[in-house]
Amino acid sequence: MLQNIRVVLVNTSHPGNIGGAARAMKNMGLSRLVLVQPLDFPAADASARASGADDVLDGAIVVDTLEQALAGCSLAIGTSARDRSMPWPMLDPRECGVQSVARAAAGEEIALVFGREHAGLTNDELQRCHFHVHIPSNPDFSSLNLAAAVQVLAYEVRTAWLAAQGAPAKVEKVDASDELATLDEMELFYEHLEKTLVDISFLDPEKPKHLMARLRRLYGRSSVNRSEMSILRGILTETQKVARGDAHKRKD
Ligand code: SAH
Repeated sequence: MLQNIRVVLVNTSHPGNIGGAARAMKNMGLSRLVLVQPLDFPAADASARASGADDVLDGAIVVDTLEQALAGCSLAIGTSARDRSMPWPMLDPRECGVQSVARAAAGEEIALVFGREHAGLTNDELQRCHFHVHIPSNPDFSSLNLAAAVQVLAYEVRTAWLAAQGAPAKVEKVDASDELATLDEMELFYEHLEKTLVDISFLDPEKPKHLMARLRRLYGRSSVNRSEMSILRGILTETQKVARGDAHKRKD
């Protein structure tokens, strides 16, 4: 079940941190590492710091975009060393562990997303995540080393996983249409929504005013399932037809 939880490191500069993260993961029983455009990998420093977690490094998947890293996930949790301008649904590290484990146990794919050493995650990257988690550090010195931040969240995942061992397993086979839409499906929906809102002049591409970010936050907390997603996409398609003037006339 822990194999449903992946750790995503975005644009890491120091290979030593990738090794440190791999070690932290293996200590806590996590094995799936995804690297989005690492600056220097594979590297001797990564292997040195992994000290024995070479299997996690060898199995690491390197991709070009965060979107590719999140493929197949229905829950993404982004980490942030500080508060951002746009308020977003937050989890504390403990809740992050509990949610990740509960949803991984239900067969969902989960991503814990970590940012660059110097700049963290961009707002755009954070807005692709359903929740944000902040490790409650000293406000005057809030930024942990990347591998240390991975360690804290991986420990919380392990704690939640150990607590769940005693609890009876909830294995309910869900209907495919009840499965949550994945992040890739949500991305296609957001593209379609944005185009439609431009078509009906609700969204001015010159003055977007955070509209898409607000809508991402709204739909992101709605746990949209597959059948609801087809309804939403259907509504957009019909709206675009009306906007183009080629909708079927309704027969009264
Ligand atoms: N200067 C950057 C700090 C990045 S630290 C910034 O202000 O955002 C590198 C990464 O470690 C962060 O992107 C995040 O993934 C993780 N991290 C560091 N401190 C954290 C904290 N207090 N809570 C959650 N994640 C943290």
